Amino acid sequence: MTAPTVTVNTIHTDAVIVGAGPVGLFQSFQLGLQDIRSHLIDALPYVGGQCVELYADKPIYDIPGIPVCTGRELVAQLQAQIKPFAPTFHLNQEVTKVSRLEDGSISVNTSTGQHLVCKVLVVAAGVGAFQARKLATEGAAELEGTHVHYRMGDASRFSGQDVWVLGGEEAAVAAALKLSHQAQAPAFKPRSVTLMHRRDVFAAEPVLLQAMRDAVANGHLQLQIGQPIALLSTAQHLNAVQVATPDGQTIECPAQHLVAFLGLSPKLGPIANWGLALERKQVVVNTETFATDVPGIFAVGDINTYPGKKKLILCGFHEATLAAFGAAAIVHPTRKTLLQYTTTSTELHRLLGLV
Ligand code: FAD
Repeated sequence: MTAPTVTVNTIHTDAVIVGAGPVGLFQSFQLGLQDIRSHLIDALPYVGGQCVELYADKPIYDIPGIPVCTGRELVAQLQAQIKPFAPTFHLNQEVTKVSRLEDGSISVNTSTGQHLVCKVLVVAAGVGAFQARKLATEGAAELEGTHVHYRMGDASRFSGQDVWVLGGEEAAVAAALKLSHQAQAPAFKPRSVTLMHRRDVFAAEPVLLQAMRDAVANGHLQLQIGQPIALLSTAQHLNAVQVATPDGQTIECPAQHLVAFLGLSPKLGPIANWGLALERKQVVVNTETFATDVPGIFAVGDINTYPGKKKLILCGFHEATLAAFGAAAIVHPTRKTLLQYTTTSTELHRLLGLV
């Protein structure tokens, strides 16, 4: 761990939570009950981790006191619960570097240049940072960020261009539809919008699918079944995409931009370099406070390991509760960390903004 420079833009805070999945969100609540403010950082552009990314509309049956809710509903409830503590979210950025400053505090850097300094760091990074699966097609890597994209971003850059949207999931269908609607507006007009998938089968809400089929029928959206086999460019400018069609033909179609939605895959990524003891890519913790072997750093949820570990949301919530007690001993060293009930404690009611 080397000492980085603290810049004027550095945010100083009690706690930073890496990961805004269900456990990271609940961690923020438990830290709040200990009078500890937190900043949450997530690589995704939204909170909820696996619950939102992998099973947003599927039912969960084993959250205590909630007989059934979807992943999205659970996350909405967690967001409502942490509101009194007003945590700050830094989304769409990965925590890349963690190091120790001379005064013992912890320095956290993110992929967007954000720098935070905290007294405690809680790693709630689940199965790792979700990152867009990249297109393996020849020529794609060189054009990434200019002509090949993995997020829609600012759609005005597609004005007057032939745009191809790749993928068969909801994100691809929604993006193609959005662009095709925009193609009808005079102020913003891609020359053409094409949705391409290897099969004529799409996984999206029925309403969205119908809207997509309607857009194809009325000529606002083109549908191409096939796989991209090469991107043809000159001087770093995409001109065309070569497509292998299901009937064995290879066709060449004009394209200046390609937006690929090929799903997200989790990557442990930089966490492996933070000096934490790991066992089979999981952070080793003690089960008293869920502290790692590095002072001031805790790990909760799917990212940690200990004898008997179960990767369940309920278990992550328990871990976050004990980690908050461990964090309180560091953030408020002179205070006694007593167990208080939210039902009866006026101090907790004050922290929750109820009195
Ligand atoms: P995650 O939900 O994985 O969230 C971690 C977050 O950290 C992610 O958003 C990630 O982007 C972010 N992150 C990671 N590294 C970084 C970094 N370096 N910088 C910034 N951000 C980072 N559990 C149950 O209890 N009941 C169920 O019914 C259930 N059903 C499931 C169904 C499916 C299909 C799956 C896949 C899982 C299910 N689970 C269920 C398991 C449950 O989803 C996980 O236990 C839970 O999501 C773990 O929460 P977490 O907050 O620890 O991690």
